[in-house]
Amino acid sequence: MLEALKQAWKAFQAKEVPVGAVLVHQGSIIAKAHNQVELLQDATAHAEILCMTAGAVALSNWRLSQCKLYCTIEPCSMCAGGMFLSRIEELIWGAPDLRHGANGSWIDLFNKPHPTHQVKVRSGVLQEPCALLMKQFFQQRRQENAKINGNLGDELAAH
Ligand SMILES: [Zn+2]
Repeated sequence: MLEALKQAWKAFQAKEVPVGAVLVHQGSIIAKAHNQVELLQDATAHAEILCMTAGAVALSNWRLSQCKLYCTIEPCSMCAGGMFLSRIEELIWGAPDLRHGANGSWIDLFNKPHPTHQVKVRSGVLQEPCALLMKQFFQQRRQENAKINGNLGDELAAH
């Protein structure tokens, strides 16, 4: 999870929502990724999806059945769907995502029996640092927006 946090930090520095993911196959890391929605201007460029894609390339196999996916934030429904399709063995996530979380925060896709595949889940791993990075990111964004709006307000007042 520490490696996933490093990825989330990379996203933070790139002004992306700070989410990181790491894929582990039989004890070794085979892929790492961070959120790249802004860079790619792609709403689906989530850390988890990019990480699973890179992992499939590394293994030359889309079936990631012996892989554990570490994510700093509770995955969304799209990423959860990707995990079922990729047959991820186990998901380990850090902090909940109250708006999009698909493991109980918004909906729960993992506790619903799936006809062909079940993903094991561990949650709340390094929850505090994972959540803190998100909190700081959105605080910073709000401050920047307030500053822009403030400057605009001053400019308008001067005219
Ligand atoms: Zn997602």
